[in-house]
Amino acid sequence: MSCKWIDICPLRRLERQGAIDFTWRERYCDTERNWRECRRYQMEEKGLPHSDTMMPDGSVIGI
Ligand code: SF4
Repeated sequence: MSCKWIDICPLRRLERQGAIDFTWRERYCDTERNWRECRRYQMEEKGLPHSDTMMPDGSVIGI
């Protein structure tokens, strides 16, 4: 099952804008289990604020 945030995650907007490609989606969001390793997911679960431009590995892109 994909990540529960897959449709509303800010990364979808960044994909539409062409700021990122679909690699993150393929490696984390749309996988059976890898979304559990996503830093965004982990922080969301803890209620911790995080930038819309933070990637699943915790890196922050400049756009
Ligand atoms: S970036 Fe992380 S929180 Fe967002 S949809 Fe992908 S796995 Fe879920």
